[in-house]
Amino acid sequence: MRLLVPTNWDPALIERLSRLDAGVDLYGVLTTSLIGTGGSSPDNVDMAKGQAEEYITRAHAAGLNFDYLLNAPSMSNMEWDKSTHRELIEHLDWITCIGVDSVTVTIPYLVELIKRQFPQLKIRISTIAHVHNVARARFFESLGADSINLDFHVNRDFRTLEAITKAVECEIIVLANNLCLYQCPYEYYHHDGLGHASQSYNPVHGCYVDYCTIRCTLDRLSDMSENIKCRWIRPEDLHLYEDIGIGMFKISGRAMPTERILRAAAAYSSRHYEGNLHDILNALAPKIGFVNAGPTGATGHTPAPPPELYIDNQALDGFIDFFRKQNCLSECYRCDYCRKTADRLIRFDRNQVDEYVARLTGALDSLSDSAFATA
Ligand code: SF4
Ligand code: SF4
Repeated sequence: MRLLVPTNWDPALIERLSRLDAGVDLYGVLTTSLIGTGGSSPDNVDMAKGQAEEYITRAHAAGLNFDYLLNAPSMSNMEWDKSTHRELIEHLDWITCIGVDSVTVTIPYLVELIKRQFPQLKIRISTIAHVHNVARARFFESLGADSINLDFHVNRDFRTLEAITKAVECEIIVLANNLCLYQCPYEYYHHDGLGHASQSYNPVHGCYVDYCTIRCTLDRLSDMSENIKCRWIRPEDLHLYEDIGIGMFKISGRAMPTERILRAAAAYSSRHYEGNLHDILNALAPKIGFVNAGPTGATGHTPAPPPELYIDNQALDGFIDFFRKQNCLSECYRCDYCRKTADRLIRFDRNQVDEYVARLTGALDSLSDSAFATA
């Protein structure tokens, strides 16, 4: 088993991850880069290029591979602009020179370009490419993918997982600790906004508001069953995926503090976690206001740490078995399995949750009435 673990660029991660039983690949990206990334807030820890080079060298010395994210869902057509295209090639030259082992890519054209001009880089397809069926997996493999991060929405659809692993030769990766809404309606908009905000050439100059994260956090706290419907995988259930040929598990959470990343990695490495499952999931902390004002001149954000939930992991033994026979895609409107599980297992402070929900509702109101644009 191998783990794909996020880095927040803290050097302390390297040595401690190298002691885990599981093999580890780290993944990360500079906060602003040429291609950008669709997966984390633009106010993440920033690094100078030289510091990133040094970090990757240290990771290699400790026996960890490094995967660099190039996974924005779009480059706003700037990949066809001659000057930006030359910068793109220079950026890929730099990534190759600093010894990156693999890159994670969403845009099919970039897969072809990298395969042709930078064959030394292994190519991983991002979860943002939404590979959730055999046809799409084979398509990306034929373009040159060495491995594919599957769309996490199929994490509990074992027939589809098995069919994909049988249909392709390339490595299949599943995202293990994700707390995104099942069939999140904000997902495409969210990745698109993050991608544009993290691109160095993009005229939005980093402008970003955490609308999607505020919205989905509100949904999860207003209906606790959403926390169960999310497609996380318990460390104890990894063997079910290994049985069908999946040996690589990704942990999400580049914005998580070092101790939380290490706790999640240790749990998945040991295939066991005692206590609150929520502690190892990528729980989001939405920011209220402009995360990055870009050229708008608006003021900054207020971090809003969400209330703690307690999800009894040991009481989830056998929880996954139901999904072997259930078709969630077509049956969710009349199934109460996740609601009953939430009622039984999730503990929280009602006052704290209500106060927080009111705060997020107020934040959404202040966005939908356009006050920020007229003040
Ligand atoms: S659940 Fe939230 S964080 Fe996940 S994709 Fe949807 S909006 Fe984004
Ligand atoms: S169909 Fe049932 S088991 Fe599947 S996500 Fe919906 S409530 Fe949960």
